[in-house]
Amino acid sequence: MAIANKQTLAPGLYLVATPIGAARDITLRTLDILASADVLAAEDTRSLRKLMDIHGIALGDRPLVAYHDHNGDRARPRLLAAMADGKSVAYASEAGTPMVADPGFDLAGAAVAEGYGLISAPGPSAVITALTVAGLATDKFLFAGFLPNTASQRKTALKALAGVPATLVFYESPKRVAAMLRDAAEVLGGAREAALCRELTKKFEEVQRGCLSELAAEAAANPRKGEMVVLIARGDSENISEDDVEGMVTRALEEMSVRDAADYVAAKTGQKRRMVYQIALRLAGDAE
Ligand code: SAM
Repeated sequence: MAIANKQTLAPGLYLVATPIGAARDITLRTLDILASADVLAAEDTRSLRKLMDIHGIALGDRPLVAYHDHNGDRARPRLLAAMADGKSVAYASEAGTPMVADPGFDLAGAAVAEGYGLISAPGPSAVITALTVAGLATDKFLFAGFLPNTASQRKTALKALAGVPATLVFYESPKRVAAMLRDAAEVLGGAREAALCRELTKKFEEVQRGCLSELAAEAAANPRKGEMVVLIARGDSENISEDDVEGMVTRALEEMSVRDAADYVAAKTGQKRRMVYQIALRLAGDAE
């Protein structure tokens, strides 16, 4: 039975969040907007139609426009023209919140630039859902989206995040997650706490918690399918003493140049690279 309230919406662009799994994780306001907007736009029109069917919302004779990464330049003028005509346009990405690792950014930017109203109907997003169940600190987090596909670029990206004093949150594909966890253990240290949150809000929802080396070994041994979020605890750089850093640098210098040892230990500990480099220089000098 439909519970949406049909109403007259002010002209503008309405960004509506949709469920990331459980269809009933939709807000009443999103249902109202989907029932009322003059024009509907979606990253995946079939998914939106299905969601509307589940919730008893008829499309009627309203247009449903596909808007995604590959046709944005062509579809945007049509949606802006509708707003220029005083119409309300509701946009949904395939799942979760538009613009969070999903399209919608250029459309929202164009709507603002043209002076139309931009309204958010907030709701599910995998990043927030994962944070609430991972068991890692939520007071500060950094959402890093998807890491690059190639190992070298992925490691460079991870090194840049090593010292961030916040829980790191990544979206990842099941195909790459084992390699990603392996690289994260190598770059950030295998002892760092982490969580792998899979199929959130769905039937086979699962959260694996452990240190990076454990999660990497498990992902390599038992590949899992489905949608996943990887969270990595912040490095405990505050708790690392200079003696610890010196010990790590000494060991690293047995196999690496001063520069590489400084990069490696700084990334692993989250300490400032300049400081670690000075220590590495001194220790390399002492050893000569
Ligand atoms: N806009 C969405 C949001 O607000 O979360 C994200 C879209 S992004 C293209 C899709 C990625 O989000 C997936 O590859 C996965 O990393 C994550 N994701 C989406 N749904 C999920 C779920 N139910 N459980 C775990 N991760 C999910």
